[in-house]
Amino acid sequence: LAGDAITASQIDALSAHFPLCMRHLHTSLRREKHLKHFGRLQYGLFLKTLGLSIDEAILFWRQAFSTFTDEQFNKEYRYNIRHSYGLQGAGRNYKAYSCQQILMDHPPGTGDAHGCPYRHFSADNLNMALGTLMGVDDRSVLAGVKQDVTAKKFHLACNRVFEHMHEKELKREKDAGGGVRETIIHPNEYFDKSWSLKN
Ligand code: SF4
Repeated sequence: LAGDAITASQIDALSAHFPLCMRHLHTSLRREKHLKHFGRLQYGLFLKTLGLSIDEAILFWRQAFSTFTDEQFNKEYRYNIRHSYGLQGAGRNYKAYSCQQILMDHPPGTGDAHGCPYRHFSADNLNMALGTLMGVDDRSVLAGVKQDVTAKKFHLACNRVFEHMHEKELKREKDAGGGVRETIIHPNEYFDKSWSLKN
């Protein structure tokens, strides 16, 4: 799938391959039918890099913001979506944020869903999110995540969860002679690796 076009209607299913930050954004969007500014940016640029075209992006956000009228949506959101695709304003082609940027820039405030849960969630909320959003409740994995987080190695916690969730596929790959993997440092890289292992 990497590099191929995706459609708005595929995103719910594809979210099974998202890292925790993007799953949190996706479920928050579905629940609230809205995301605040930096959430829209972080998630929107991730989806754009996944291969969501501008037309599909407008469709996706329009359907997701279902409590807004067309007029409100067009006035408040359409411009910004087009802007992030380089079609308005200065025409800059914005790239998806790396883990480093997500970890360091614009720490989330109350009501925000952006950021990196490994860094920005309390220990209890992180454990709960790992359970509900990723299906991870293995105690040794959770203990490892806690250690990584305490040592401020947030992306290592994310890689640990990735390895746990793809344990079987990674073993199969290793047995077949492959398996030298680099640490994931970008949410889109997480998606690409997850997708290629499962497909
Ligand atoms: Fe997302 Fe990166 Fe944090 Fe993982 S380490 S949850 S990919 S920001």
